Amino acid sequence: MEPGMREVAPGILVKRDSRGTNLGAIVTSYGIVVVDTPLIPREARAWRAELEAVTGKKPIYVINTDHHKGHALGNVFFDAPAVAHMVAWKHMRGYGDNFKQRLADRYRDKDPETARELLHLDIQLPELTFEERMTLYLGDTVVDIMYAGGHTPASSIVYVPRARVAFAGDLVVCNMHPFMAQGSSAEWVRALEQLKGMPIDVLVPGHGEVCDKQVLEPLLDYLRVARELIRQEYLAGHSKSEAARNVLTKIIGFFPRKPSAGVKLEAKIKSGLGHVYDEIRREEEQKAASRATA
Ligand SMILES: [Zn+2]
Repeated sequence: MEPGMREVAPGILVKRDSRGTNLGAIVTSYGIVVVDTPLIPREARAWRAELEAVTGKKPIYVINTDHHKGHALGNVFFDAPAVAHMVAWKHMRGYGDNFKQRLADRYRDKDPETARELLHLDIQLPELTFEERMTLYLGDTVVDIMYAGGHTPASSIVYVPRARVAFAGDLVVCNMHPFMAQGSSAEWVRALEQLKGMPIDVLVPGHGEVCDKQVLEPLLDYLRVARELIRQEYLAGHSKSEAARNVLTKIIGFFPRKPSAGVKLEAKIKSGLGHVYDEIRREEEQKAASRATA
């Protein structure tokens, strides 16, 4: 998708920000529901202006699919209540001065204006939270927000039944390695299976090309294979770092990678595999404990 705005289904707008995050909007008779907000303040203001110009409506809600910086830090620029999972609220409550300082530092040289704005950013926490799901009834449009987990313990899906569109946040990545270091791979598999069973024509991932349900199978395959290989490593008595190293070589070829990604990508995958290792260890320990009591 080009940087410009695209209507991916009637009343469903998607645009990519400069960092590659997909920004979504659901146009209803009541107003605009904004799905995820940009990190860069300039881009957040521009996105809102563009939405208002194109639709002639105002934002009425903001929804964050998780609490990561590319999804939730621009909330304040839309002048609307924000909705997110309870756990996203808990994480965002901890975004203090040190957090803003680190954000600003990243931009200090290349974009001093953004650095200054991030340092003084007014972070809008979600005012409305849920644990399992929440439904917004907005005149002609129903918006279902559902807990999914997987990528993070706050990851949620935003589903618009009338348009058969789902905003999946970072739960779905197309043709690239998923970031597994924070959530639960078992929940992730369950969430993707749930998505597979839903009436969805358009799937908007957190980053990258807008796609459809066809991307789910390779992603499911990847997560299942990663879990199985890590389990074998654990049962063979290998340490976490050995396991991560061994499995990395077997799954790195699953998705294409840019030559520039190199070492950074490998470190990211390894930290994800380490997280899966801890998860598998807990699963195996539980199995052993229930065998012992049986
Ligand atoms: Zn994320």
